[in-house]
Amino acid sequence: MNNMFDIVISGAGPAGSKCAELLANKGFKVALIERDTNWRKPCGGGVSARILKYFPQLKKANPHKIDSILMYSGDYNKLKYTWKGSREYSINMDRLEFDNIVRNVAIDAGTYLFDNNLSYEFIWKNRQSIGIKTKTSSGTKEYFGKILIIADGMSSKLATKSGLRKKWKIEELGIAKCAIIEGDLSLEHKCIHVFFRPYKGYGWIFPLGNNRFNIGCGTFEEDNLNYNLNTIYNEFFKDPYIKELLPTRDYKAIWSASYPLPVLGVKKKSLYNDNIMLIGDTAGFTSPISGEGIHPGVVSGQAAAEAAIYALEEDKISKEVLKQYKLNSNVRKIIKNFKLKRSMVEFFYENSGRNLSNMFKLANQNDEYREIVVNMFLFNSVPSKEFFSEIRKLN
Ligand SMILES: Cc1cc2nc3c(=O)[nH]c(=O)nc-3n(C[C@H](O)[C@H](O)[C@H](O)COP(=O)(O)OP(=O)(O)OC[C@H]3O[C@@H](n4cnc5c(N)ncnc54)[C@H](O)[C@@H]3O)c2cc1C
Repeated sequence: MNNMFDIVISGAGPAGSKCAELLANKGFKVALIERDTNWRKPCGGGVSARILKYFPQLKKANPHKIDSILMYSGDYNKLKYTWKGSREYSINMDRLEFDNIVRNVAIDAGTYLFDNNLSYEFIWKNRQSIGIKTKTSSGTKEYFGKILIIADGMSSKLATKSGLRKKWKIEELGIAKCAIIEGDLSLEHKCIHVFFRPYKGYGWIFPLGNNRFNIGCGTFEEDNLNYNLNTIYNEFFKDPYIKELLPTRDYKAIWSASYPLPVLGVKKKSLYNDNIMLIGDTAGFTSPISGEGIHPGVVSGQAAAEAAIYALEEDKISKEVLKQYKLNSNVRKIIKNFKLKRSMVEFFYENSGRNLSNMFKLANQNDEYREIVVNMFLFNSVPSKEFFSEIRKLN
């Protein structure tokens, strides 16, 4: 097979795979380059119900269904919300399984997957990038494309080499460690637990079914420099409240890993240039409060695919045309929503997390406040200024 494609995508995670699927479905010749399909992306694997609209194929895998969330403030005030009884449910999945399913959807649509290929450089001609070079066990390979899409996550070298964005600074990131553990859990198997910390950080326990769960914690922004990840991870397991949920000593970690994630929102000036687009984590599509990045990454992959389809059909691949990616209504909604969440993060963690703690206290006392807080966390609505000043008054 020759190495000329309409589109070359580096990275077959959720964002790259969605993008490849949609382009291949339209009949374009798509190369999807992946470093290692056996790599399990470090992730909690918690995905909102919205993902099933993008990948109905996931239902066949019978993913573990979640119907409630229990959130703890840094000083352990709790807030529980359940959507039991509604038709919608969120899911928890092992990322290895999730990524393989969404990759296979792209392959079934006609995408050419090149596994064990590490993208490391662009192929340049007249100062324009016209392809991607990879390293493989049998030497260097070259893949040429009219449009190049960078979807290779946080570790992307191509994103910086493209000139679209600089290297991440440590304060722009979250850093988290997580594990998949086997053993009995003393919590409801359909409930996810999120533990906000008194510093900029949080931890989680996400049940996966069959006595397995994903557990992890991390820090973000300036607190990456103030706390050691391994120390807080070990302390998290020893925390008396968390120990209550892990009643026996009989746990076996079947996998663990650490990884960074973007936390300052979408890099909206870095999304596209002539014949190139950045999508998913590498462009900042991860929610600043929860770290949820699978759904927003997939949305960015879809928006980039739509912009590329139009550009290829019109045979105009300049940045003026690819701008449609950034103007996509779903991408604009995400950019706006993440901006609001960023401002809330500052509020939550003020005074060692006391605002968040007060918010949970009020929500437990008063149904009206409860609705505001739940809508803010789960449905992206923004509380009024009066609400925030009410909370501050309690300090
Ligand atoms: C610890 C942790 C917990 C998280 N928990 C959640 C959660 O519970 N729910 C949620 O929604 N989000 C969570 N996130 C965020 C989520 O994991 C990411 O936002 C999401 O994976 C982004 O998808 P992506 O396709 O952009 O990138 P990735 O999933 O990172 O995919 C990138 C792909 O590119 C490949 N690749 C990398 N470099 C190269 C290269 N040079 N050449 C070729 N291929 C390459 C990788 O192997 C990978 O397959 C978490 C993140 C972390 C770090």
